[in-house]
Amino acid sequence: MRKKLVAGNWKMNGAREGNAALLAALLGGLDGCHCEIAVCPPFPYLSQVASLLADSGIALGAQTLSEHAVGAYTGEVSGAMLVEFGCRYVLVGHSERRALFAEGDAQIAAKFASAQAVGLMPVLCLGETLAQRECGETFSVVAAQLAAVLDRVGVKALASAVVAYEPVWAIGTGLTATPGQAQEVHAAIRSQVAALDCDVASGLRILYGGSVKAQNAAELFGQADIDGGLIGGAALVAEDFLAICRAAN
Ligand code: PEP
Repeated sequence: MRKKLVAGNWKMNGAREGNAALLAALLGGLDGCHCEIAVCPPFPYLSQVASLLADSGIALGAQTLSEHAVGAYTGEVSGAMLVEFGCRYVLVGHSERRALFAEGDAQIAAKFASAQAVGLMPVLCLGETLAQRECGETFSVVAAQLAAVLDRVGVKALASAVVAYEPVWAIGTGLTATPGQAQEVHAAIRSQVAALDCDVASGLRILYGGSVKAQNAAELFGQADIDGGLIGGAALVAEDFLAICRAAN
């Protein structure tokens, strides 16, 4: 049985005072939440969030990492640094990184490998654009994004990772994939992994992301291959995020 995971991606939002208020509200509202929960704040707040979450059961994650381990890479942050600040998870290949920072499949696969090399659990984000969906390319695009990582690290590496299917057209737009649309892509992702290793596939958590809200979360999370959510906007409002966590029960 896969334990559901709900992870909040704060993106480039936050400030010390607001972070403390948000986390206090989250910590005070965990009764009735039985899924695993993680939050991914911007780098400068990792230390603050780590101390506020100490011993709380809410895990800490980061939003990206360098593919390099150390050296002359101005502005970059290594996986080992994230581990030092208490991170368990790191997002890899978020569509905003792919689109706005030109991260391609090879770099994303290298980041995935770098995360695992230091014991971080990568959350590998996959998803098609609206144009790709309209051309009927959803399954081939997602399969190619996943294959780039599988080719680099091998299928067993997915036993220590999470995948997030996030249709680009649903991120931050208010448009959500229907539960049926999401489920068919999740099932295809699991089949692609199962073709290489059935045990890894059946244990793999595949999150859905893209305008998840309290109102649509339960139906999405009720699908056979949807094991939780990666939440952007709604992760910034404690009561919304908690309602989504409860929907994962
Ligand atoms: C995301 O950024 O990963 C995301 C899913 O955002 P939103 O929930 O705001 O669509």
